[in-house]
Parts: sequence; structure tokens; C-alpha cells
Amino acid sequence: MKIEKNISLSNETTFRCGGRAAWFSAPENFAEFENLLKLHKGKLFVLGAGSKTLCPDSGFDGLVISTKNLKNITFENDLVVCDAGAKFCDLEKFCISHGLSGLEWSAAIPASVGGAAVMNAGAFGHDFFESVEKVEIFENGARKILQKNDIEYAYRKTSLLGKVVFRVWLALEKKSPKFVANEFDKFRQKKLSAQPVFYGSAGSIFKRTENVIPSKIIDKLGLKGVKIGGAEISTHHSGFIINTGNATAGDVIALIDLARKTVEENCGIRLENEVIIME
Ligand SMILES: Cc1cc2nc3c(=O)[nH]c(=O)nc-3n(C[C@H](O)[C@H](O)[C@H](O)COP(=O)(O)OP(=O)(O)OC[C@H]3O[C@@H](n4cnc5c(N)ncnc54)[C@H](O)[C@@H]3O)c2cc1C
Repeated sequence: MKIEKNISLSNETTFRCGGRAAWFSAPENFAEFENLLKLHKGKLFVLGAGSKTLCPDSGFDGLVISTKNLKNITFENDLVVCDAGAKFCDLEKFCISHGLSGLEWSAAIPASVGGAAVMNAGAFGHDFFESVEKVEIFENGARKILQKNDIEYAYRKTSLLGKVVFRVWLALEKKSPKFVANEFDKFRQKKLSAQPVFYGSAGSIFKRTENVIPSKIIDKLGLKGVKIGGAEISTHHSGFIINTGNATAGDVIALIDLARKTVEENCGIRLENEVIIME
């Protein structure tokens, strides 16, 4: 099993900036993943596709385990079983080729299945837990299956945060491949017109609640387009901070702080981060 030292995480996260991991490993199979988890007693971060994660410029002083090599997607009876590192774009191809409907809303979200399960990724009024049936986690030295009922989930959060997800089982509906492909395309078009998907970012920076839509408040306060270094509050979608090319993680964090402070001072609302800053 390969464990590397002092690895830059800017290539492992969609913000395309940030510091280094003291130790980094991307297990090739679950036996390796399990061994690493059993042997490592120090600071740990399990990284999926890195599309919600920012590593500070000072780096992460521990072991980062990436699931990027664990990407199998297959059938188990009527359910689709996905390894944690399988990407949504691969799941989309699987759904189209087998005519499986239910995840079309996820078009163009650059998530891994593990990260999406932990965060309950979603869009356009849908979320991942509409389809999740059970999840295999690794806890207290052993693999364990959690049924959907054993897991608490809500808007962009679940009780899986802090646990290690190995595999996820999904229940999807049989439809024609053509129907499924068209639906994915429809949602992709909506997504591309609404969000700056071609820049480095981590999607929405702040959590939305029933009463608070961060992008609307940020917009109203005139913060759209505000820049610190190479980080910018997107002019396309004010809920996103984008890396215009040469942002440091420090630029992004300073802009997050500025937006949060401005919103709190003007509206008395404390925005909560959806982006995960490694610590
Ligand atoms: C352009 C863009 C558009 C986006 N659009 C959306 C959107 O429409 N809707 C939406 O919900 N999100 C969106 N996102 C954000 C992101 O894709 C989701 O939050 C996704 O769920 C994160 O998955 P990930 O694999 O990248 O997680 P990561 O960033 O790798 O990790 C996020 C968290 O999950 C944990 N984690 C990851 N894998 C595992 C595992 N196997 N076991 C345990 N913990 C794990 C990490 O430790 C971390 O705490 C977008 C991001 C970008 C860049």
C-alpha cells in the first residue's frame, strides 16, 4: 500500500488551491482501506472528490485517505451498489446505460458517492437520500451496514459526517435509457445556466435554511463580484466563491469571512459554512 509524504491537495480538490497533506494515500481496494484505518491512530481526513473541501495554505498535519481508486458500480439484486469513490459522472453513465431513473438532478455535480452520502448532496428540490437504501461504514475497527432508517438526514447534512463510508446501495426506477439521458441533459442545462461550473469552486459556500438563502442576501448587499486576491464572489451565482486562477486558500477564507461579517452586521444573520475547511 502506497503512503506518500507532503502531497499538494490543490490537485485533489475542485477549488484547485490550498496546502499539502503531511501524509496521503489512495487505497486500491477495501482491504487496503481497512488496514490503513486500523493502523492509523492520528489525525485523519477521508477525501472523496474534494468538491466541498478546502485545505488551508498551512496544510493538513495528518493522513488524508482519498477514495478516488474505489469506484466500482454494480448491481446487487434490484439495488445499485456503489463504492464510495465512484463519481456522479460515472453513476450517470451507469444510469443511462441501464435505464435507471432517480438521480437526474445530479447532472454536473462533481461529487463522489461517499461525499454525496455524507453531505446529502442535492439540487432542484431533490437529494441523494431519496435514493439511498443502505450504507456500509467502517466504525470501531469493523464494517457495519446502516439501513436508511438508522441514518439521520436533512438538507445537506447527515449523521454520517465523521464516519467512514465504504459503499452505498441505491434504489432507482426502471425507465428507458433515452428518457434517463434526456432528463440528465435537461438538469445539466439548468445547472450550467445557473452556476459557474467551469471555475474552481466548492459549490455553495454557505448553507441554505428554510428562511435564509445566502446567495440572495449576498447579492442584495452588493457583494457580487467582490474579490480578494484570486478569489471572487461569483457574478454568475453569489452563493459561490470561485478561484479565478491564482487564488490561495487564504484568499478564499478571507472572502468567506468578509461575506459572513457583512451579512451579520447588516442583517443579524450568522451564515453557516457548507464548505468544509480541513483542520
Ligand atoms: C461546480 C460545483 C457544483 C456543485 N453543485 C452542487 C449541487 O448542486 N448540490 C450539492 O449538494 N453539492 C454541490 N456541489 C458540492 C459537492 O459536489 C457536494 O457537496 C458533494 O456531496 C461533495 O462530495 P465530494 O466527494 O466531493 O466530497 P469531499 O469534498 O471529498 O468531502 C466532503 C465531506 O465528506 C467527507 N467524505 C467524503 N467521502 C467520504 C467517505 N467515503 N467517508 C466518509 N466521509 C467522506 C469528507 O471527509 C468531508 O467531510 C458542487 C460543487 C461544485 C464544485
